[in-house]
Amino acid sequence: MDLTIFRESDSCRSEVVPPQAENDTECLKSSEASESQPCSSKNDESAPHTMSITVRFRGIDYNINDIHVSNTIGFLKHKIHLLTSVRPERQKLFGFKSLSASQPLSDTTTIDATSLRDKSKVIMMGSVEDDIKVVENVNKDEINPFFDDFDIFEDDETMSDVGIANRQEYLTKIARRVQEYQIEMINPPREGKKLLVLDIDYTLFDHKSTAQSADELMRPYLHEFLASAYHDYDIVIWSATSITYIKAKMRQLRVENHPLYKIMFYLDSRAMISVHSAKYGLLNVKPLAVIWGKFPQYSEKNTIMFDDIRRNFLMNAQSGLKIKAYRDSHKNRATDAELLHLSQYLKKIAKIDDFTKLNHKHWHKYVEGSRRH
Ligand SMILES: [Mg+2]
Repeated sequence: MDLTIFRESDSCRSEVVPPQAENDTECLKSSEASESQPCSSKNDESAPHTMSITVRFRGIDYNINDIHVSNTIGFLKHKIHLLTSVRPERQKLFGFKSLSASQPLSDTTTIDATSLRDKSKVIMMGSVEDDIKVVENVNKDEINPFFDDFDIFEDDETMSDVGIANRQEYLTKIARRVQEYQIEMINPPREGKKLLVLDIDYTLFDHKSTAQSADELMRPYLHEFLASAYHDYDIVIWSATSITYIKAKMRQLRVENHPLYKIMFYLDSRAMISVHSAKYGLLNVKPLAVIWGKFPQYSEKNTIMFDDIRRNFLMNAQSGLKIKAYRDSHKNRATDAELLHLSQYLKKIAKIDDFTKLNHKHWHKYVEGSRRH
């Protein structure tokens, strides 16, 4: 197995906002800071002076209204604290940046000196005090697993809706996505490579557990897995969220601009289509034909897609591999080796010309030391 095992130093971690004073009055307004910080929008008379910002924490969106451009990041954290109970010094915000390369974000940075605009979306990581006590004091085996609404769709029976894949109305939707969805290329396709499409949440990243850094929530062996896969596959990330969240997550996980592999592009929820399942009603799914329509060199013969939710494969059941969901990172990160085993599987099948002959449900049989769940 030619996996390159490596560890990156802690210095690579991206700490967005360092802890600062908790004094709320200090955070309310910082006229000194706003005078000293460059800001491209400050002279724009048409720009609104108050804005609404959405903060996503543990999969829930919190709307914060009436943020003034002269308020500071510290003030924003104070507002987030009121909504989420995460203390300001435990908050890590990402999804925006300082407009000045020489002045990194801090709690005294004013909103208008950042890339935040009205209706901006921000992702917050942080730990509530009670959660921290639980993680520190409770026996790891007693921590309750998280469940989300999607779990009810995770059984194999979803695939009985096999007729859906050929319905003309859905093929028409896919054709529209091929025409209208704008892909922002990060790296070009490479000659002769197969295609690997990866989900993010619960596949590469535990997006609901509490943590103080993305590293704590990253699935073990993520970088080793991507570096190994990159030898044989062009890599696409497809998440049922917005492109803003995807970029922010990939930046935090240090997948963006990694020295040992490159991502070809990201796809978000707008590239998905909704279909009607007789059993489950309306579902959003990820049709690979959106990619195949734009890049004819890829097809069901050379594409494989990993997702923890099987219904996402509804339009292309043959190409999907349902990965075990990665949850409870604090409990499972010492033992989860799914990506290590899947690296071996991808390496083995990379030599096969036609993936339609494979049944990815049996991937464990081809990998030494792997177990069926
Ligand atoms: Mg997922």
